[in-house]
Amino acid sequence: MNLMNDLANSDPEVADMLLRELKRQEEGIELIPSENYTYRSVLQAMGSVLTNKYSEGYPKKRYYGGNEIVDEVEILAIERAKKLFGCEHVNVQPYSGSPANQAVFFALLSLKDKFLGFSLTSGGHLTHGSHVNFSGKNYVCISYDVDKETEMLDMAVIHELAKKEKPKMVISGLTAYPRKIDFKAFQEIAEEVDAYQLADISHISGLVVGGAHSSPVPYADVVTTTTHKSLRGPRGAIIMSKMEDRLHEIHHPEKKTKAGEPFSLARLIDSAVFPGLQGGPHDHSTAARAVAFAEALKPEFKDYAKQIVKNAKALAEELMALDTKLVTNGTDNHLILIDLRPEDLIGKGGPIQNALDEAGITVNKNTVPYEPSSPFHPSGLRLGTPAITSRGMKESEMKVIAEGISKVIKSKGDAEVSEKVRENILELTKQFPLYPGLSILK
Ligand SMILES: *Cc1c(COP(=O)(O)O)cnc(C)c1O
Repeated sequence: MNLMNDLANSDPEVADMLLRELKRQEEGIELIPSENYTYRSVLQAMGSVLTNKYSEGYPKKRYYGGNEIVDEVEILAIERAKKLFGCEHVNVQPYSGSPANQAVFFALLSLKDKFLGFSLTSGGHLTHGSHVNFSGKNYVCISYDVDKETEMLDMAVIHELAKKEKPKMVISGLTAYPRKIDFKAFQEIAEEVDAYQLADISHISGLVVGGAHSSPVPYADVVTTTTHKSLRGPRGAIIMSKMEDRLHEIHHPEKKTKAGEPFSLARLIDSAVFPGLQGGPHDHSTAARAVAFAEALKPEFKDYAKQIVKNAKALAEELMALDTKLVTNGTDNHLILIDLRPEDLIGKGGPIQNALDEAGITVNKNTVPYEPSSPFHPSGLRLGTPAITSRGMKESEMKVIAEGISKVIKSKGDAEVSEKVRENILELTKQFPLYPGLSILK
């Protein structure tokens, strides 16, 4: 089946763009740690007739007719997510990671309430309290940071900060931190100060379900994750939570049913997603999420998750052997942060990112802890291994990739060097066809 025949005929302009994007993805080395290559089955569910449906509400409680099958789809996605993560409750409707976090704030905090979040420049996400984001504008964020020497989180410092500030919520989670997170320690801190813990595992959820990172689900009150990063599904997000609100009397005593029963945490979250924040869920994405959860439930996914970490460790070792400085001098997860400061490239993350693009290696410029320049002109590069691991690459390929990256950095972005590296990268990617056998576009 050629899924693109109709598009190629009716809109050759867009079809051509998709074709060129497929070629770019096929020929390059994708190292952006939040990206992945999803399954063909997920692409098919995403491009399905479910995009035609409206289904505001939840299964069996909809505001529109004709939802018999959509209900089945959403119930299946919920059941699979519960089995995959072992959570008590899950909402599979959030459009993406940022709206999921927004819903959690909306469910648990009032405007101007205080929370603790990981600083953006040292590894947190925009939605963890950046001053340009809703989280920093509508609520009072107290940022915690990594230790200046070790560049790692120090739970004792976070503990002291929580005792001093008494936040209503503590966010744990990362977008640019190459080490493991101690969710149990975060929960102990949160419980001591009567705060909720929101564990945002968007980046690492594939590692969590694959057994390559410990899970926050047994501890955290609420856990959010995107479904399109290391989890390898469609774009989207889910919110998991405990059923009961252990802080009901302290933080939400007024939230009671007509019969006088306290609102559950699950109910607070669900009503924040719909009707609080969103309208109709994206049912095609719900179906694709169910497909991805089934893939992640397979035993092979455990091997995949472990290989992501092995590849990251191998890539980190090779880079360090080539005299490249890494933040925290290594990695425990899927993510590597190159520190360009010792290369005399302070603020030059952008130009090096562009030179690597020319070499067929896609990374993103990123701040380093205690960034001496600025977020738009940062002094680091962020790399990750979920996508290349999906392609089947292993430790020996990491050596070739590390050499390419190192050459481009050491040349300070010389165009001729990038051109040479590109030849090696093309040679490498040819051996790992993307979506082999699929005739989406060809
Ligand atoms: C990617 C990410 C998000 C946001 O997800 P979007 O789908 O881009 O909105 C939120 N939190 C963390 C930790 C992330 O890594």
